[in-house]
Amino acid sequence: MLEIKEIFPLLNTPKKVIITSHQKPDGDAMGSSLGLYHFLIQFGHTVTVISPTNWADFLKWMPAVKNVLDYERQFVIADALIDEADWVFCLDFNTLSRTKRMEEKLNNCLAERILIDHHQAPQVEKFVYGISDTGKSSTCEMVYDFICASGNDDKINEEVATCLYTGVMTDTGSFRFPSTTASVHRMVAHLKEKGLQHSIIHENLFDNYLENRFRFIGNVLMNRMEIFYEYNTALIVIPQQDLIKYGVITGDTEGLVNYPLSIKGIKLAVIIIDRGEERKSSFRSKDGFDANTFARKYFNGGGHFNAAGGQNKEPLEVVVAMFMKAMKENKDQLSNYQF
Ligand code: 5GP
Ligand code: MN
Repeated sequence: MLEIKEIFPLLNTPKKVIITSHQKPDGDAMGSSLGLYHFLIQFGHTVTVISPTNWADFLKWMPAVKNVLDYERQFVIADALIDEADWVFCLDFNTLSRTKRMEEKLNNCLAERILIDHHQAPQVEKFVYGISDTGKSSTCEMVYDFICASGNDDKINEEVATCLYTGVMTDTGSFRFPSTTASVHRMVAHLKEKGLQHSIIHENLFDNYLENRFRFIGNVLMNRMEIFYEYNTALIVIPQQDLIKYGVITGDTEGLVNYPLSIKGIKLAVIIIDRGEERKSSFRSKDGFDANTFARKYFNGGGHFNAAGGQNKEPLEVVVAMFMKAMKENKDQLSNYQF
């Protein structure tokens, strides 16, 4: 993988560009994709953002999100665009399998794949150019660094600022996680100077849910959460019938795993959701417990040290039993917490 700065001189020649991110894109995946989109179109490139799947309603206000293709619904047109493309930017993921049904197309495409990502263990052999830095708060911060390092920070307009702020804010838990460095705050200050209206973004993201989501959360916290104090661990298990009963849609379960992490003493919070086609798990940790290694070892997943995910094909009860066994195997790392 060549250094990302090798493409700086090539930016001035108009190209056909695809930008993609991981399935079920979150604020950072969509924010970095659209932030880069609003930057690149200013050079005269033809740019299309393709999401491997649909995305949460709380992202549907983002500038130009209406131009984003959903690969699962629009694969014919998306495939034709990928066939024509010179560059495919891969943002906020680093293994092609995280694009689900798009994986094969991406793997076989003739375009040059370019990586910008902050997760562990990149598949570097798949990318011609790229940057991978697990020390970065978010892919949005990395796109911001890319724009500045290329000498084009005059092209940061309100759209770019809005999109990049969305990802850096959501991936840092509203500037709370240890990844929130001084450079993150400097970046946000710079975005403010470029016209960023941050309060509106917070309202768009967090004050736009429907009532049913809160009824659902009430049920989850009352009936679906179990605390294993001996292991400083909280587990939420959501059967598929709950998703149907409460009309849960993409995005409604986002952030749920963080609730039990606020309970005194909890250092590992886990949610396992039966999504029908697969069992999706999320892991959040504190106090030096390595969620990435845990997700990688037991749940076909990965991510970051304190936030990781995974998925399984086995039935829900089997995945829960696998989790219980894994938790017990990790008793030493989990139980040495000082109250
Ligand atoms: P979430 O629990 O919100 O789905 O994901 C937490 C973090 O782990 C995110 O940064 C996400 O990109 C990453 N992640 C989630 N699922 C997987 C997975 O199956 N494989 C890998 N490598 N990373 C994942
Ligand atoms: Mn991210």
